Amino acid sequence: MSAPPRSEHTQPIPWASVALGPALPMAVFTSSERWNAERIGALALYCSDGRWGEAFDEFCHRRLLIPRYDRWAVPGGPACLLPRGTGPDLSHSTREQLGLLVRVHELERVVLISHYGCAFYAEMCGKDPEGCLPVQTQELKEGSALVRRWFPDLAVEAYLAMRQGGCLTFHAVET
Ligand SMILES: [Zn+2]
Repeated sequence: MSAPPRSEHTQPIPWASVALGPALPMAVFTSSERWNAERIGALALYCSDGRWGEAFDEFCHRRLLIPRYDRWAVPGGPACLLPRGTGPDLSHSTREQLGLLVRVHELERVVLISHYGCAFYAEMCGKDPEGCLPVQTQELKEGSALVRRWFPDLAVEAYLAMRQGGCLTFHAVET
């Protein structure tokens, strides 16, 4: 009686024939950044407006000290937290997506940033940048309260990013 066949896991691996991943065309760019697997446990939710992106990043890195934070950039930023009563329920899907990141990315801290001159609020309020600020500030407070209610263990903080000429500043909003 012959010995039973060896399972796939006990067979020696024929290394010479192992392909290292799919066949890819030659790289067009290699990042100067090196992979760091350590999670920082923080997420920042801000507007997708690319003119602000570098400043948001710098604020998070140099003031909040959260390298490698999870970036969530959507039009209006924290505006997506609030139920609007019209159209698709973005608030509900935002909660679900945030829940996934809280669980899988082990989030402990969420940073909400609303910015001066945001096109989302200009559209919604029909006002100039100064005229939108009270609504933005109020919604930062309401958005913070929602996140705390959804995820009581999360630390939530909110900021308003301002612009005067070419100068960009960040201001804590009491929530
Ligand atoms: Zn914006």
